[in-house]
Amino acid sequence: MTRAYIGLGANLGPREVTILRAVDLLAAADGVSVVQVSQLRETDPVGVVDQPAFLNGVVAVETTLDARALLDTLLEIERELGRVRAERWGPRTVDLDLLVFGEETIDESGLTVPHPRLAERRFALEPLAELTPDLVVPGLGRVSETLAELD
Ligand code: ADP
Ligand code: MG
Repeated sequence: MTRAYIGLGANLGPREVTILRAVDLLAAADGVSVVQVSQLRETDPVGVVDQPAFLNGVVAVETTLDARALLDTLLEIERELGRVRAERWGPRTVDLDLLVFGEETIDESGLTVPHPRLAERRFALEPLAELTPDLVVPGLGRVSETLAELD
């Protein structure tokens, strides 16, 4: 069993409904159980700022999957929820990022863990610190301290 933390984000459509459906789909996935869900918080977009505000949170899971299989599950859920009821595929309505996977450090094509932008993303660090302030993230250190360094 591995404890993993997944970042949740949405900025299109019914954001909270979509995020909660993503958590339900995760809980229903083979080899994954949901342990804890942070509060969802509204955050201003970072990077491309000309877009609607996000709702962000973090979910803690226990999983028997390896990191690659868990990422595949996340991408599948993104595809399922990103679908719009129109003749075409619309913009993605949910973003699921594998932030931390146990104590593993992975740098493969299509999979970097811990998530490479975690240290600079307050919208991920804050809900992660809410769930587990004392977690030591490989390569980064304690979540609460990484967050404090952003201030
Ligand atoms: P963002 O980094 O802003 O979430 P995207 O969601 O568009 O960007 O990136 C998705 C791609 O990033 C996926 O196809 C996946 O292969 C790759 N990727 C690499 N590492 C990770 C990770 N730790 N979590 C999620 N996606 C990852
Ligand atoms: Mg992503």
